[in-house]
Amino acid sequence: MPPYVIPDKCDGCQGEQEPLCELVCPGNLMVIQEHTGKAVCRDVGDCWDCMTCTKSCPRQAIQTRIQYQLAFVPGKLVPVVGPHSVTWTLIDCHGHVERFIMRTLAGDEEEEEM
Ligand code: SF4
Ligand code: SF4
Repeated sequence: MPPYVIPDKCDGCQGEQEPLCELVCPGNLMVIQEHTGKAVCRDVGDCWDCMTCTKSCPRQAIQTRIQYQLAFVPGKLVPVVGPHSVTWTLIDCHGHVERFIMRTLAGDEEEEEM
């Protein structure tokens, strides 16, 4: 499920030397295209779908496209990262929307301390 960068949303992290998606990718796969200034996964075959880049983008410019074996092409996953959780919005090929809230470790630790 390789990342898909929405060109209109990506601002290239405003010229940062190392944009966030590039910084966090464990496979060093996210790069800024010289001619567009937008991010792209340079080799989707090497992407192991960790979705770290998807979650890291401050402009929510990266979506995880769901592979055809699991859903038809328009299926996608869009994360919104909060301080204690990640909300994943799943939009299937018929436009049906489901949301899944995953609590993060930071949230668990905070609750344990209370
Ligand atoms: S983190 Fe988001 S805005 Fe920044 S370069 Fe990557 S896709 Fe573009
Ligand atoms: S999903 Fe993971 S491995 Fe694939 S490009 Fe994004 S950060 Fe890199």
